[in-house]
Amino acid sequence: MRAGTVPRVPRPPPPSSDLASRVMRANRAHSTGPELRLRKSLRSAGVLGYRTSNRDLPGTPDLTFPAESLAVFVHGCFWHRCPKHGTKLPKSNTSYWELKFRLNKARDRRNARKLRAIGWEVLTVWECEITADPHVVAEGIRQRLARAS
Ligand SMILES: [Zn+2]
Repeated sequence: MRAGTVPRVPRPPPPSSDLASRVMRANRAHSTGPELRLRKSLRSAGVLGYRTSNRDLPGTPDLTFPAESLAVFVHGCFWHRCPKHGTKLPKSNTSYWELKFRLNKARDRRNARKLRAIGWEVLTVWECEITADPHVVAEGIRQRLARAS
């Protein structure tokens, strides 16, 4: 699908549930809590040389390792619909949220496809993986970089 053919999401309705207002407040695009925790763990694992929020690449990956062509997205479970925690829908405006999440997921897939097409490896890290243990995630990235270089 061409970028121009992607349907636009209508403006969100005013938040009318606790869940909706909570997640809308949390909807910060970059340098979220989980991303900062991951960066801290990467530093302690000796993993350096990444760039944050690279706007020159499709989807503005949260972390990019240019030398190894690895792009990392840190995805919030709710917004990006993690398989474990992204199943709950707000009780009001349900059809709006369903559409919103469907388009979010489609955009994530499209960005990953575009990145792979220009030679990047794409890694998606879920917020819950970082919550569980950021060091495990950092170690996974370190090993991937070691294989790539
Ligand atoms: Zn999750």
